[in-house]
Amino acid sequence: MDISVVIPLLNEEESLPELSEWIERVMRDNNFSYEIIFIDDGSTDRSWEVIQQLRAKNENIKGIKFQRNYGKSAALNEAFRVSQGNVVITMDADLQDSPDEIPGLYKMIVEDKYDLVSGWKKVRYDNTLTKNIPSKFFNAVTSQVSKIKLHDFNCGLKSYNRKVVKSIEVYGEMHRYIPVIAKWSGFKKIGEKVVEHRKRKYGVTKFGWDRFINGFLDLMSITFVGKFSKKPMHFFGLWGMLFS
Ligand code: UDP
Ligand code: MG
Repeated sequence: MDISVVIPLLNEEESLPELSEWIERVMRDNNFSYEIIFIDDGSTDRSWEVIQQLRAKNENIKGIKFQRNYGKSAALNEAFRVSQGNVVITMDADLQDSPDEIPGLYKMIVEDKYDLVSGWKKVRYDNTLTKNIPSKFFNAVTSQVSKIKLHDFNCGLKSYNRKVVKSIEVYGEMHRYIPVIAKWSGFKKIGEKVVEHRKRKYGVTKFGWDRFINGFLDLMSITFVGKFSKKPMHFFGLWGMLFS
């Protein structure tokens, strides 16, 4: 199978038919063999019924349902476990990411041999105050700490060599740091592609201000794990010295 498209979602019933039709069209036009994996992260609207209807019409569509809301990271992690494609492409369910980006993202993995390619929403269609400014700060800090030169770590649209998704684990709020986790797992060829960003067509954003607090706590924990997992004595040796 060429491509697994992985789509985590929480209460996105209106977008799903349009999104899946668009993906199907792109796959057909490019002759890709594919699957679409929808992960319903505890929706309370009709999203899961819509997914059932879409599955009945297209056997390439698969669905996973969480009994409650576990978060975007858990949803991605579950889909990564079951995905079968040689290239795995993640995208948000709200039509802010364009399926027309799929062929370009696929090519960068297969032909240019990237391990991971992250989308860059160079022109963003979100609320400037709550999204754009904090996200510039977040990206600058993450890039500095991780030494990975990306502008938009948290872009929902990304493509992966299947080796990457089968080697990493994503939990908590870590979906924002997948390139960092991948780098620390030994995948060094990480690229970036400017992608089209669109206004949210239906529904509302699921991430508020609290995402920064949880996100930064997780950055501290992965930095800690990354730094000391290879050299535990640098940490434990220090404490040993202090308390001996
Ligand atoms: N999402 C999810 N679980 C959550 C929160 C969000 O699966 O707990 C999904 C959401 O439905 C969407 C994607 O993650 O498909 C990105 O969320 P959203 O569009 O609300 O974020 P924003 O674009 O506003 O940053
Ligand atoms: Mg969105």
